[in-house]
Amino acid sequence: MFLDISTRRPADYIRKRLPSMYHQFMELAGVDITKEPMEVGPTCHYVMGGVRVEADTTQSTIKGLFAAGEVAGGMHGSNRLGGNSLSDLLVFGRRAGLYAALYAKDFGGTLAVDSGQVADATRAMLAPFERAAGGENPYSIQSDLQETMQTLVGIIRRESELVEAIKRIGLLKARARNVRVDGHRQYNPGWHTALDLESLLTVAECSAMAALERKESRGGHTRDDHPYTDDTWGKVNVVLRLKEGRVQVSREPLPEMPAELKALFQERK
Ligand SMILES: Cc1cc2nc3c(=O)[nH]c(=O)nc-3n(C[C@H](O)[C@H](O)[C@H](O)COP(=O)(O)OP(=O)(O)OC[C@H]3O[C@@H](n4cnc5c(N)ncnc54)[C@H](O)[C@@H]3O)c2cc1C
Repeated sequence: MFLDISTRRPADYIRKRLPSMYHQFMELAGVDITKEPMEVGPTCHYVMGGVRVEADTTQSTIKGLFAAGEVAGGMHGSNRLGGNSLSDLLVFGRRAGLYAALYAKDFGGTLAVDSGQVADATRAMLAPFERAAGGENPYSIQSDLQETMQTLVGIIRRESELVEAIKRIGLLKARARNVRVDGHRQYNPGWHTALDLESLLTVAECSAMAALERKESRGGHTRDDHPYTDDTWGKVNVVLRLKEGRVQVSREPLPEMPAELKALFQERK
C-alpha cells in the first residue's frame, strides 16, 4: 500500500509540517516524499493492556512491584488517544517513583533472598549456553512468533485464526525450551533474545487469548466474526492470570469511576 502526499500538498508544506518523516524516508529509503508515494504497512503502535495496577499508587498485585507507562494496563481503555502516552508517563511515572520510594522507606521487614530461587534462576538463564548442538536459534523463534502475530492476531481478527495462533504459540513455547546460544555473557544480543523469549511468548499468548475471549469489536480490537460493539462487554475487563503454569482467562467488572471523575465528565457535557 502506498501513501501519496506529494500530489496533495506543496513540497515546502511537506518539509515544514512533516520534517522527520521527510528526513527518514530520504535518509533510510532514498524516497523523496515531496515527489513520490511512500510505501506503508501495519505495525504494532501501542499495547492496550498490561500489568494490572492500582491507579492511585501504580502498585501491582505483587507487593513492591510498581508499573507505569505502556507496560501497565487499564489506563487507555480499548484505544489510546494520540499523545496520551506522554501524559500517562508524566503523571503515572511520577506516582510510581513516589510510591515506590514511600514503600521502600516504610519497609519494616527483613529482606531474605531465597538462595535456592537464585540458583534456579541462574541455571535457567545459563542453560542456552550449555545445550548441545541442534538447539534452536532464538532469532528464528522470535521471527516465527512475529509472523504468527502479524498474520493471525493482527488488525482484523477471527476465531479460527486466534485458535490457530494459540496453538502455534504453544509449539513455539516448546521450541523455546530448547533454545541455544553461542559466545559469552558480555554484550551477547542472541542470549538477550533467548532470555526475552519467555516474556514475548507470554504477552503474545495473553493477547491472543484476550482477543479470542472478547466477542465484539471495540477500539483497536476488530473481530470480523463479531463486528459490532456490545455494551455488555463495555462493563468488563478481560483478565489473564498464570495459575499452575497455565494462563487462565476471566472477565471481571470494570472498576467504578470515582465520583470526582464522574463530576468532571458531567461538567464537560
Ligand atoms: C511509531 C510510534 C509513534 C508513537 N507516537 C506517539 C505520540 O505521538 N505521542 C505519544 O504520547 N505516544 C506515542 N507513542 C507511544 C509512546 O512512544 C510509548 O507508549 C512510550 O514511549 C512508552 O514508554 P514507556 O517508558 O512506558 O516504555 P518504553 O519507552 O518502551 O521503555 C521501556 C524501557 O525498558 C527497557 N527494557 C526492556 N526490557 C528490559 C529489561 N529486561 N531490563 C532493563 N530494561 C529493559 C527498554 O529498553 C526501554 O528503554 C508512539 C509509539 C510508536 C511505536
